[in-house]
Amino acid sequence: MEDQIHTLKQWIENSKYTVIFTGAGMSTESGLPDFRSASTGIWKDQNPMKLASTDAMKNNRYGFIEFYQNRVEEVEKYKPHFGHEVLAQWEQEGKLKAIITQNIDGFHQEAGSKNVVELHGTLRKCHCSECKETFPILRFMEEKLSCECGGFIRPSVVLFGERLMEVSLIHAVRETKQAELFIVLGSSLNVSPANFFPIEAKENEAKLVIINMEPTEMDDLADLVIPQRKIGEVLQELSQ
Ligand code: NAD
Repeated sequence: MEDQIHTLKQWIENSKYTVIFTGAGMSTESGLPDFRSASTGIWKDQNPMKLASTDAMKNNRYGFIEFYQNRVEEVEKYKPHFGHEVLAQWEQEGKLKAIITQNIDGFHQEAGSKNVVELHGTLRKCHCSECKETFPILRFMEEKLSCECGGFIRPSVVLFGERLMEVSLIHAVRETKQAELFIVLGSSLNVSPANFFPIEAKENEAKLVIINMEPTEMDDLADLVIPQRKIGEVLQELSQ
């Protein structure tokens, strides 16, 4: 294990363009449960299609609003952890160029990271489904849900049944193509398009590193896999 940390430290030092891809596992050490971990995942006893989908927004609006208000309250209880701060520090030092994240909690920006691509949007904002004007999430929490144009104000996250924002996708692909070193932190890599980025990085001859508690479907493709370790601890060791 020490060898792996040493090797990765050297790769980070030598890489001219490092990109980090984060998933729900990045935030579990802040207290937020991830998506699929068997005993704690947030979908353990809820059906996402019933609550976090375009269908729910139309046909189960009360359930949709309640689900997202609970999620915002949940996120607001927690803070970025030391690992988020390490990544922000690396960006400041020029060691890290971009973070591509599936997370909607906004912890990377709260910790100070600047170049963050939020593939699934953010729970920090809401917008009008008609005119697209954006507002702080407070408006959604206060249930001022009718826009001046008559549209419905909804959280700025990508729902089941929606496509990813093209602008985010283009940005994420551009960063991935430039990567010399591509590090995955805390994603099972089984949600599309998460599984696309490591492949794209490898096709562009980046070194691929996967740091995830459980095995992922992409482990065979990786140049280095650090399993069964907490991300926060690994980042702490890398930053020493
Ligand atoms: P996932 O839940 O599918 O996988 C998370 C992985 O992280 C698991 O394989 C788990 O073993 C690993 N993990 C958990 N804690 C870890 C730790 N401390 N150290 C190392 N590994 C750890 O997550 P995903 O691939 O990101 O897909 C989840 C989907 O759910 C995304 O669409 C995301 O938008 C959404 N989501 C977001 C949040 C958030 O914003 N924090 C939380 C839950 C779900």
